[in-house]
Amino acid sequence: MSTIFSKIIAKEIPAHFVYEDDLVVAFLDISQATKGHTLVVPKAEFRDIFSVPEDLAAHVMKVAVKVSHALQKAFEPAGINILSNNGEKSGQTVFHFHLHVIPRYEKEDVKFSLKNNMSNLSLDDYKERARLIKAALS
Ligand code: 5GP
Repeated sequence: MSTIFSKIIAKEIPAHFVYEDDLVVAFLDISQATKGHTLVVPKAEFRDIFSVPEDLAAHVMKVAVKVSHALQKAFEPAGINILSNNGEKSGQTVFHFHLHVIPRYEKEDVKFSLKNNMSNLSLDDYKERARLIKAALS
């Protein structure tokens, strides 16, 4: 079954598009976390970061940069968050890979909590985590 984003891309469901090329679209998120909150979505349906091809993900990011410049020009936000939820536990609700581009006007207009939840880690704990990730990358 196709995702709601595929239906938007196929123009079966309306959305406020701001960008389109052969591979990617960008349209306003129906839930405007802040003024101009935009989603950048590949036309081809990939569930998440684990299935989207690297080159396509790179193009999605390139479009997110373009959209960020446009948002800056249009609304003059004080900053921008770019984020992608992957997996239900991370907050993903539409299982079609996408980036959120969220202009920020105030520190408190969106709540993210990236505080240090593991302040008791030793140097060895960090070393071991880095070692495991490096091993997985090679
Ligand atoms: P996720 O939670 O998967 O990271 O983000 C999905 C986003 O899609 C949500 O922010 C939600 O508001 C948005 N969304 C869901 N359904 C629609 C829709 O029909 N139209 C638009 N424009 N956005 C949608």
